[in-house]
Amino acid sequence: MTEDNDLIVTIDGPSGAGKSTVAKILARALKYAYLDTGAMYRGVAYAYMKEGEPADIGRFLKNLVIDFTFGTDTKVFLDGEDISGYIRDPEVSLWASSFSQNRVVREYLTGKQRDIGRKGGIVLEGRDTGSIVFPDAEIKFYIDANPEERAKRRHLELSSKGMDAERATVEKEMAARDKNDSERAIAPLVIPKDAIRVDTTGIDAQQVVDIMVRRISERSR
Ligand code: C5P
Repeated sequence: MTEDNDLIVTIDGPSGAGKSTVAKILARALKYAYLDTGAMYRGVAYAYMKEGEPADIGRFLKNLVIDFTFGTDTKVFLDGEDISGYIRDPEVSLWASSFSQNRVVREYLTGKQRDIGRKGGIVLEGRDTGSIVFPDAEIKFYIDANPEERAKRRHLELSSKGMDAERATVEKEMAARDKNDSERAIAPLVIPKDAIRVDTTGIDAQQVVDIMVRRISERSR
C-alpha cells in the first residue's frame, strides 16, 4: 500500500462497469475520501427537472442550493434536504445523461470537483475525472466490462433497491446512456491518457480492487 496520502485516483468507465462499488472499496482500503461525480450530475439534473426545466441554466445554477458529502458515500442535499434516495431512479439516469451534455453544467460541476479533490487523498469516479477534471492525476483507471455483464449488474443494483425494471428495459436504457456519454461534444467518455485499463468481466469487486492496489503500489514506487 502507498505511504503517500495525497494521491488523486480517478476511475472512469461506462455505466454498470462497477465503478461505484470498486471506488468505495478502494477508497476505504487507501483511507481516502470517495467522490461519486455521477451523483453530482444526477442531483443537479433532478433539481433542474423539479424546477420545471428553466430556460436560463446559468441563472438556475446561480440560485441552486446544492451540497455534496464526499466521505465514504456521496450524498446530495437540495435546499438542505437529502435527495440521495431519489437520484438513482432510471428516469433521473436519463435526465442526468442528457443534462450533463450542457457546457455550463459541466463547468459548474467540474469546478466543484476540482475544489473538492485538489488536496488529494481522494478517489473520484465518473466519466471524465481522469480526462478533464484531473488530467494530471497520479493514478488514472479506466474500467469496463462486456455489455451483458454491465446490464446484469445494473439490473441487480436496481432490484436490490426495490426498483423493479425489466432486464431488457435496463439494457436499452444503458445503451442509450452509453451512446449519449461517448458521443457528446463536451467531455465525452474516453480512455484518459496513461490510464490503467481493467476489464471487470467475470471478476468480483474485491478482485478488481486487488488489481488496482497492486497497480497503485507499482506506480507510486
Ligand atoms: O455514474 P452515473 O451513472 O451515476 O452517472 C449518471 C450520468 O451522469 C451519466 O450517464 C453521465 O451522463 C453523467 N456523468 C458525466 N460525467 C461524470 C459523471 C457522470 O457526464 N463525470
